[in-house]
Amino acid sequence: MYEVLVTLQVISIGFSLGIVILLALENTSKPQMLLLLASVASLLNGIGYFYELTAKCVETAIMAIKIQYLGYVFLLPTLVLFVARCCHSEIKTKGKWVLLSFGVFFYTIVATVEYHSLFYADYYFEMSGAFPHIVLVKTPIYYCFISYCWILMMIQVGMGARYYRKYKNRDGVGILLATCGYFVPILVMPLGMANIIEGYDPVPLSQQTIAIWMYVIINKYRIFDSAQMARNDIIGNIAEGYVVIDISNKLLFMNKVAENLFPELNQAQEQESRIEELLAHVTETIDVGEQKIEVHMTPFYDHNVLKGYTIWLFDKTDEYVYTQRLIELKEQAEQANKAKSVFLANMSHEIRTPMNAIIGMSELVLQEEVSAKVREKVLDIRNAGKSLLDIINEILDFSKIETGKMELVKANYKVAVTVHNLVSLIGVRIKEKNLEFIIEVDEEIPAELCGDEMRIRQILINLLNNALKFTEKGYIKLRVWGEEREEGFVLCAGVGDSGIGIKEEHIPNLFNSYERVNYVKNRSIEGTGLGLPICKQMVEAMGGSITVESRYGFGSTFSFAIPQEVVSEERIGDWTKAEVKKENGKAKIPFKAPGVRALIVDDTKINLKVASGLLKLLDMTVDTAASGQECLEKVQSQEEYDMIFMDYMMPEMDGIEAMNRLRELEGDYYKQVPVIVLTANAINGAKEMFLEAGFQDFVSKPIEMDAICDCIKKYAKNKIILTEND
Ligand code: ADP
Repeated sequence: MYEVLVTLQVISIGFSLGIVILLALENTSKPQMLLLLASVASLLNGIGYFYELTAKCVETAIMAIKIQYLGYVFLLPTLVLFVARCCHSEIKTKGKWVLLSFGVFFYTIVATVEYHSLFYADYYFEMSGAFPHIVLVKTPIYYCFISYCWILMMIQVGMGARYYRKYKNRDGVGILLATCGYFVPILVMPLGMANIIEGYDPVPLSQQTIAIWMYVIINKYRIFDSAQMARNDIIGNIAEGYVVIDISNKLLFMNKVAENLFPELNQAQEQESRIEELLAHVTETIDVGEQKIEVHMTPFYDHNVLKGYTIWLFDKTDEYVYTQRLIELKEQAEQANKAKSVFLANMSHEIRTPMNAIIGMSELVLQEEVSAKVREKVLDIRNAGKSLLDIINEILDFSKIETGKMELVKANYKVAVTVHNLVSLIGVRIKEKNLEFIIEVDEEIPAELCGDEMRIRQILINLLNNALKFTEKGYIKLRVWGEEREEGFVLCAGVGDSGIGIKEEHIPNLFNSYERVNYVKNRSIEGTGLGLPICKQMVEAMGGSITVESRYGFGSTFSFAIPQEVVSEERIGDWTKAEVKKENGKAKIPFKAPGVRALIVDDTKINLKVASGLLKLLDMTVDTAASGQECLEKVQSQEEYDMIFMDYMMPEMDGIEAMNRLRELEGDYYKQVPVIVLTANAINGAKEMFLEAGFQDFVSKPIEMDAICDCIKKYAKNKIILTEND
């Protein structure tokens, strides 16, 4: 029997030594270091007990007990720290000091056992029994020590069980199994005290087995697998909350961030409902106190079998605050933009109304037989009016471009006609300034192209006007040519001048809105600073590009290239020979409509005069009304108008109300008669607004003959007679 016990003790020492060597050789982490310390303590415990077993006298036995206790008192505290580490629960420094103090206290008592009877009331050597052994008469302090050890073991079992309950993952199973090993010494302790084998204490052996058991389990379950630890460490320390659940929504793991956000996840009763709540908000943002948390979920698989889900909790508070601020700023900007639009609408309206009179009246005078002198002066008035209107249109155009509502109108056009128009429009003014106008048009350009000719003309007028404004002597040069590129035919044009030029540092800002470079020098030169930005936007809207080259003091050249469709293979040749109708100031009358009756409603007398004057040129029968009320009365007394032209801004009853009242009258005629709004409000979206309000069409003031003719043609198609020049 004795030999068996000694052999068992030697074997366990052998194992303990093996573990100490293995752990010492491993690249140990901090928790493994604790296990190494525990294994050393266990080894000392085993060696000490081996000496006690083999002792032949009381002195040797006491010496052996001292060695044994050196391991014994530190074995369990180190294992407590180790198990706590495994369970991710931190033991505070105070707790560590308490454990160390207890160990030192008990060991001091054991080490000085010969000098007092605190631990053993008495001891002596007994030669009888299973083998010669020391008999120890134990005191209450001894039992205190045993209880202390017992408590430490129970604490560890408790920690293991709690960890397992919380995370039923592989780590949890490993730690539970490891701590369950404590049941051996827990149960063996009372057996030892019962002294079943006289003189033999089974506790040291059981303590040793626990250290060996721990080592085996920890390795089997790879609890300290470095890669896994690194993963756990990363997940534990990332800024995002991380929760792992199994397929039945049971919590497997969560990191500190998730725990701080949702402490309820730790409470069994609330765990399920909280997880369900999180799952119900996947990809959404939820409020957690002041924080905005975005919830995401990803499934995870083991060999293609769905095992559960990871829930990620992203703190989006900063983004939320930032976005809120952006929304606020956007709203403020929109508010400001709205105010700008209202201002533009008002300005446009206020200026367009008198402009309607100026241009319209000049137009009417030009239709009459007047002397050449008068014609020239009236032409000047009309042209000045038109340039003023151009400025207003430029600003309106810009607001259209700004809101991305600029529409391109494609049509076939003859390049020679475009050049002619430009030359006749600008040429006179260039000559007036005693500048040379050089025009170079490549003869190889296709004669007819398809594109938004009006916009191209607008861009060239802008560039030529600038050249004219900023050149005092020398020349202005217009060059037009074509290039065959990969994307097809590209129409190119350049406007050069020998004017003041632009400083190099100002060039990058040229195409910025409201930018007027070299302001001091150019103060006396009129302009809005919108021309070039508009040109750039238009060119780009047509798929082209615009560039500038300039030398300060020597002149500038603006060039653009815009892709255009080629309509005919015929070449332009000598552009000066192209046939172009000459302007005599008379508006083109494309048709006559003698049988058509129109009612014009406007509260401004002069506007009525202009509109009726223009319609009379078409031989139409025109009646007028000075208010919405008068319009309703006239319409009811004679239901014969083929169309009604209605001003929008009128006192008492505006155009929309007058139209609505008209539509409410009994009878099909009132529901069908076309009502066309005449308005000076030409800003972006105005047309849509009027059409939505129920008007059939929209003609902006100042009234253009072409625009009003198109409208009449649409609603009185059968009654018009085309004139020769159409
Ligand atoms: P503006 O209505 O002021 O002419 P633009 O956008 O057309 O607005 O031009 C912006 C500025 O660019 C002008 O004020 C002027 O300083 C400069 N600029 C434009 N064209 C020329 C040119 N041909 N020569 C010299 N400076 C020019």
